[in-house]
Amino acid sequence: MRVLSGIQSSGMVHLGNYFGALMNWVKLQNEGHDCFYFIANLHSMTQSYDPALLKKRTLELTATLIAIGIDPEKSTLFIQSDVSEHSELAWILSCLAPLGEMERMIQFKEKSAQSPESVNAALLLYPVLQSADILLYRPDLVPVGIDQAQHLELTRNLVRKFNKRFNTEYFKEPQTFHTETVKVVGLDGTAKMSKSRDNFIGLVEEPEIIKKKLRTAATDPARVRRDDPGNPDICNVFSLHKLISSAKDQAWSEKGCRTAEIGCLDCKGRLFENLMQLLDPIRERYKELMEKPGLLHEYLDLGAQKAKKEAQKTLEKVHELIGISR
Ligand code: AMP
Repeated sequence: MRVLSGIQSSGMVHLGNYFGALMNWVKLQNEGHDCFYFIANLHSMTQSYDPALLKKRTLELTATLIAIGIDPEKSTLFIQSDVSEHSELAWILSCLAPLGEMERMIQFKEKSAQSPESVNAALLLYPVLQSADILLYRPDLVPVGIDQAQHLELTRNLVRKFNKRFNTEYFKEPQTFHTETVKVVGLDGTAKMSKSRDNFIGLVEEPEIIKKKLRTAATDPARVRRDDPGNPDICNVFSLHKLISSAKDQAWSEKGCRTAEIGCLDCKGRLFENLMQLLDPIRERYKELMEKPGLLHEYLDLGAQKAKKEAQKTLEKVHELIGISR
């Protein structure tokens, strides 16, 4: 099966990315599928950004993806902007994309509401570029978080429009593949964990920083005092225990919270310990890789070469179908 997915290089990879999508990237790769994974640096440009930082984060993201288990010799790991065909297909698809549908995209509405003073046209076209990213590789499966479901629906719509308009069956509708977790809530307990909201726990963040972030993380507001009982079902910290901790620790946290036998700080402390068991090896591997930028660039060159070959094949066929070949 052909698999394709991407991640923006606009900040540190966080637990939401990991449990919402990246876990599946690794799983699908290890099942032996033909996986294409890319760093969506062009998408990161839709928000205000610093060029030097974007470059730095792109390399950090490469190291993080390898540290969680993406093997650049098994999967095709590349940077979006290294394959210029992405931008070209995005233009072609934008000629088919209905403006009304674009304006109704939840992510567009949310992001433009977050910073109304800096909404650019690219933010509106974000899902069209995403459709181009996907269709260039004609994948069967796209492992993404639930927040991308609407964008995938648009991609399928564009496939139908393209095929109808140009009287072809060249593109096939890709299927979305979600993890069981679906959506990870941020430390503020109100919105999804995201880089832009600064409510995240980074995969390679230093333990002291994570500890500090957890200390102030929102819990059940009913637990004002240590001996107030709480409801783990509405507690953000408990939702992280469910992702990370053993069944025994989950039961300890759930019972302790309902009976007020434990305080939120005890609960957060145990979560921290369990989280470090997951993150320590990832952080160590990441640091080793960051000391070898030459190797990271070699992997990215290899990925770009393989991706470009596929992308060129698709675009050549598209040129023929839409009447711009000679
Ligand atoms: P992005 O950082 O927006 O490029 O997202 C990379 C991947 O992580 C996408 O597949 C998203 O759907 C997924 N993702 C991002 N934030 C979350 C979250 N809080 N919960 C679950 N999945 C997420």
